[in-house]
Amino acid sequence: MTDAAPKKEQRRKFQAIRGTRDLLPPDTALWNQVEETARSVFASFGFGEIRPPAFESTDLFARAVGGETDIVSKEMYTFAPSPESAPDESADDTISLRPEATASICRAYIEHNMQQLPQPVKLYCMGPMFRRERPQKGRYRQFYQIDAEVLETVRPDAAKDTAKELAKDAVVDAEVIEMVMTIFDRLKLPSVRLEINSIGHAADNCRRRYVEKLRAELLKVKDKLGADSQRRIETSPLRVLDSKLEHEQPIIATLPKIADHLCDECKAQYAAVKRELELRGVFYKENWRLVRGLDYYMRTTFEITAQGLGSQNAVCGGGRYDGLVELLGGPPTKGIGFAIGEDRLILSLQEAGISALATRHSPLVYIAWMCANAYAAAVHAAKDLRAAGIRVELPPVEQKLGKALERADKLGAQYALILGDNEVAEGKWTLKTLADGTQQKLTEPKLLDFLKKL
Ligand code: ATP
Ligand code: MG
Repeated sequence: MTDAAPKKEQRRKFQAIRGTRDLLPPDTALWNQVEETARSVFASFGFGEIRPPAFESTDLFARAVGGETDIVSKEMYTFAPSPESAPDESADDTISLRPEATASICRAYIEHNMQQLPQPVKLYCMGPMFRRERPQKGRYRQFYQIDAEVLETVRPDAAKDTAKELAKDAVVDAEVIEMVMTIFDRLKLPSVRLEINSIGHAADNCRRRYVEKLRAELLKVKDKLGADSQRRIETSPLRVLDSKLEHEQPIIATLPKIADHLCDECKAQYAAVKRELELRGVFYKENWRLVRGLDYYMRTTFEITAQGLGSQNAVCGGGRYDGLVELLGGPPTKGIGFAIGEDRLILSLQEAGISALATRHSPLVYIAWMCANAYAAAVHAAKDLRAAGIRVELPPVEQKLGKALERADKLGAQYALILGDNEVAEGKWTLKTLADGTQQKLTEPKLLDFLKKL
């Protein structure tokens, strides 16, 4: 190695990879509060936490999310099996970082025979997801989701789609939506808008009939559509309804609406979801263009938007997916879930001036120890105060009083605990209230009592 090489290497400035970012204090306090709020709401609705791995077999996502979707065809971080990998049974698998959580949760449901648990099984998870998208405000390559799913294996003897079953599904759908709205409500997320739709279901063909009709109508206007929509006429015509392209809007407005094509069962189920939402005081708006592109998504779909996010304003997407667990090799199982985009949720809160929800912090005490004699007492005092839940800053070196108070002030401490020769000799410590400069001398038990009461 030449002399120049290490110098050049030293000059290299590492930066977070494009589309990823560091979440820093004080922002992370808000992230934690959001997650705590979600956890407490989930618990109150009887959900338990699942923590699936961050990567899975690529095939799982191809099957669950869909091979033709943008997510799977373009956006996944995929790794070929390493030639050195251990010769275990999964060594041949190409793996991908998870782009979403539903696939993993359904895989885990099957793998752990959760159909044997009392039904339905209600699970939530939170953590990073990975998609190679064009980074912009509210769109990252590593982003965070808060996800919840309700899974219920259908007993083999259960009559399918009886009025009773449909009514039950509607209640589950409405409760899941009520739950996510409760989270946003607790967080005081401003201008939350819930949009809902029913996209029919595949079994009775009400969706297939609609999709055929939609495709026929789209073919008539194909020339006027953009390249993406043209391609989707074949692969996923429902997704055309999702288009944000300005010049396509008047064309889309004339397309047939799925609400006019729902079968009686889907119609009844959709009406029941709306009734259930009203019963729960959840406001919604119907949006006939709200779709999910994949075959197993059915009936209830919903999206929630918030303010301050520009065009990336969806903070939550969800829907019913009764066929998915079976598609992954499990028993016939109903499912409904949603994913909150946590990055966008935080951005929207911050845009609204909510930087950290008001919480009660214990006071911060700065220990100003001022002679070698006092050091051991300072270390012990720090230990006792911290054990009592009080925040303590213990400087690693001796400081003059003036300098110590200056630093205590900079750190935002409310108190300085002064430990010098006098205090050690007396066995009483001086507690200075920084806001008004008043001082009191206290023994350690009295000091703890005083600080704990704050
Ligand atoms: P969009 O239309 O905004 O791309 P999507 O349909 O791809 O959203 P879902 O897969 O349904 O989104 O994920 C649910 C939520 O996760 C979205 O509503 C959004 O808040 C968030 N989300 C999705 N992709 C990203 C991303 N790349 N960066 C940040 N948040 C994201
Ligand atoms: Mg997307």
